[in-house]
Amino acid sequence: MKLSPLFIFSFFLLSFLISCTPNSNQNNEEQINTTQDSSNTIQNTDNQNEKIADNFGIVIHGGAGTILRENMTPEKEAEYKAKLEEAIRTGHKILAEGGSSLDAVEATIRIMEDSPLFNAAKGAVFTADEKNELDASIMNGADKAAGAIAGVTTVKNPISLARQVMENSPHVMMAGKGAEIFAKARGLELVSPDYFYTQSRFDALQKVKAKDENAVELDHDEDSTKKDQTNFYDPTIKDSKFGTVGCAALDKNGNLAAGTSTGGMTNKKYGRVGDAPIIGAGTYANNATCAVSSTGWGEFFIRNIVAYDISAMIEYKNITLAEAAKEVIQNKLPALGGNGGIIAIDKNGNVVMEFNTAGMYRASMNKDGELYIGIYEK
Ligand code: ASP
Repeated sequence: MKLSPLFIFSFFLLSFLISCTPNSNQNNEEQINTTQDSSNTIQNTDNQNEKIADNFGIVIHGGAGTILRENMTPEKEAEYKAKLEEAIRTGHKILAEGGSSLDAVEATIRIMEDSPLFNAAKGAVFTADEKNELDASIMNGADKAAGAIAGVTTVKNPISLARQVMENSPHVMMAGKGAEIFAKARGLELVSPDYFYTQSRFDALQKVKAKDENAVELDHDEDSTKKDQTNFYDPTIKDSKFGTVGCAALDKNGNLAAGTSTGGMTNKKYGRVGDAPIIGAGTYANNATCAVSSTGWGEFFIRNIVAYDISAMIEYKNITLAEAAKEVIQNKLPALGGNGGIIAIDKNGNVVMEFNTAGMYRASMNKDGELYIGIYEK
């Protein structure tokens, strides 16, 4: 076979160009950092205003609360870490392939919703009347569109219903039966309420109820006008591990998104709804600032408008995400008596995982595939 000079020249040119391309395996090599006490603030750039081209990143939480090393078995710890890793890698892959932050947030949260380890969908905590009532929300930082649902009992993946509300209805929030009718109309997977049952969450309710009754008796000895409040704010509820799930992501197009999904708080009564489906409290995203998802004692997150407050501080005070998150979670929230934490990512890919509880299940992964997984404070 005779090769033309043009063919030979093209072959050498191509070989030369290939040899100049960096080794993609090396670039994708992942650094797994599971050290518990490593920094919870991951800075991608020293200059907050300098946008990194094609930057992206993702951060998740699986709830904050009294999560102590001494109460955890090595098997349970490994299970949590494995699920956090599976969830975050799912979202990271979507982002790495050029997918949207909204798709990454939804897919990541669905994995945690399907796991009985977390207080969201399967494995949700029980209400006082032994039901699982689910709340969720999602927000798109590009156009500040948002969707939320509250008190649903038959929707397998509440985060997907929140997204449907955002994208396929003129509303921002739907609750109860109406939200379930909408879920059916949109073709979402519906399940029997028993699907969400887990023995450990049911047992947790019985424990809280037993303590609650004691609290009622004690309360009678004190000021009976405060009875209802004392019962709801029972210290055993405050101190129990929460377990909501959330995700915030930045995609290669510079779009931020955040989402949160929860069963709420154990022993909640009277159709109580927490912060998770409240835009600005449990979830917030704005391309100009950051994307945030909250977890903790919902009433305090609503009163402090936590997620929006962090974004607003960046916008109006021109401070960093880390500074804003610290101020809200370590100062403003505890000043009212609230506890919990947030995960967030800013427009430059800087990630923050800030909490004032003993622990928060959390993970982050940046553009270079560096993975961080944490559970305890130290
Ligand atoms: N924030 C949730 C709520 O109050 C609970 C949690 O984060 O675990 O409903």
